[in-house]
Amino acid sequence: ADEGFAFDLAVIGSGPGGYEAALKAAKAGLKVCLIEKGALGGVCVNWGCIPTKALLRSAEIIDLVARSSSFGIMAENVSFDFPQAVKRSRSVVRKLSKGIDFMLQRAGVEVKQGEARFTSPHDLDIVRDGIGVDHIRARSVIIATGSIPREISGLEPDGNRILGSRDALALKTLPSSMIVVGGGAIGIEMAWFYAKAGTVVTLVEMMPRILPLEDAEIALALRRSLEKAGILIYTGAKLERLSSDERGVNCRITVAEEDPIAVHAECLLVAVGVTGNTCELGLSNAGVECSGGYIVTDGECRTSADHVYAIGDVRGGMLLAHKASAEAAIAVASISGKTSEPLDDTKIPRCVYVEPSLASVGLSEEQAVASGFSVRIGRAMFAASGKANAYGNLEGMVKLIFSCKTDRLLGAHVLGHGAVELIGELCLARQLELTARVLAGTVHAHPTLSETIREAAENSLEA
Ligand code: FAD
Repeated sequence: ADEGFAFDLAVIGSGPGGYEAALKAAKAGLKVCLIEKGALGGVCVNWGCIPTKALLRSAEIIDLVARSSSFGIMAENVSFDFPQAVKRSRSVVRKLSKGIDFMLQRAGVEVKQGEARFTSPHDLDIVRDGIGVDHIRARSVIIATGSIPREISGLEPDGNRILGSRDALALKTLPSSMIVVGGGAIGIEMAWFYAKAGTVVTLVEMMPRILPLEDAEIALALRRSLEKAGILIYTGAKLERLSSDERGVNCRITVAEEDPIAVHAECLLVAVGVTGNTCELGLSNAGVECSGGYIVTDGECRTSADHVYAIGDVRGGMLLAHKASAEAAIAVASISGKTSEPLDDTKIPRCVYVEPSLASVGLSEEQAVASGFSVRIGRAMFAASGKANAYGNLEGMVKLIFSCKTDRLLGAHVLGHGAVELIGELCLARQLELTARVLAGTVHAHPTLSETIREAAENSLEA
């Protein structure tokens, strides 16, 4: 029945998926309700992208200050005020969360605080502290409930010795030593931040290398940089917790057939990935199906219930904020009766915000070869760049992968200062399916780091 809909659209969750969807739908003229059980902005603003980047900025500054004398700046008695770095990070978060509140209000989105749960395909109960506080009926629903951290048995976070990523973003004091379990983007960013703040960091990854989905050559180059920064890294490694007490945790790390290594640290951070946040949503009451921890959707983000969509982390795929926002646009277009191109994972950038930072888009060399492409590789080192030399950030390179047959860019990998900003040009190149010739023929300003992109493209043509 078409009757009794208080809202055209109910959005569950206010992360970069949910709040973007609510804003876009309101702008399209829909009557929208957004339900959030925590703080506005979701994990991204409150416990993910933003607080990590604010802390990493402090680490970047201490990193620069540590080598400032070569620039003619004498900074003596410099120390890292850890509580202040955390305080600043939390205040950045609060400001952005308030900004989202303001934007939602201005767009006329009705925000309801509480936990949403389907009671029928179009009906949602809103619960606060276990008590039902509201009930809404909406024509369409977008589920944007994000993800929850994966746990490993024996390493369940206790907020004290065993930490989850949230705990690690708001510690009161700087730990003297830390074991980070997980060599993905989050584990690496945390490891680098704490190492720069002064913690002795050991990073343990089960897979044969850190960032197993990234280009092997680039991931290895990043590993070398992290090791230079003092982080002890074990890959292909198994970690067991032996005991924990008031002084910290005792672990055993085993790499292949070698003798086990005993490691003690004040705390251990678990960063082994996440899974879709599908629990307690009453999905079966709406006829929404899940598989492997995520909600099943089609290319338009539509679930097994026609009027219910799922976007962002809860939908699976690449678990990134900008992917969640891009899916918000697709879902809202579909609800408004428009069609849009489904997302292409090979056009979505991936970044690790340490120094040198890593950013990539499209296929790695290994993936391109495994997909049957005959490839031409172009490389250019930042050590040869005038700007990198002037700045004193020499590490890293640009590696571009082109198809021999079409000359088009298949994948781009940048390791170096500012890589996360440089990747924008290469995302556009992927989007427009540009060729090596076009990239090499595009005049870039001198001296800039982006010249290195042009040089890598030219290098591929010389190969
Ligand atoms: P989320 O941002 O997770 O938001 C979901 C919201 O839904 C939450 O606020 C939650 O409270 C709410 N919710 C859940 N269930 C209900 C319910 N039943 N009722 C009401 N509300 C509910 N990605 C990047 O792209 N770049 C980065 O630099 C980056 N850094 C990260 C660093 C860390 C430490 C972490 C943990 C993640 C990071 N990510 C990063 C990943 C990024 O945070 C996620 O991909 C992104 O937040 C997903 O957005 P989303 O909209 O799907 O959900």
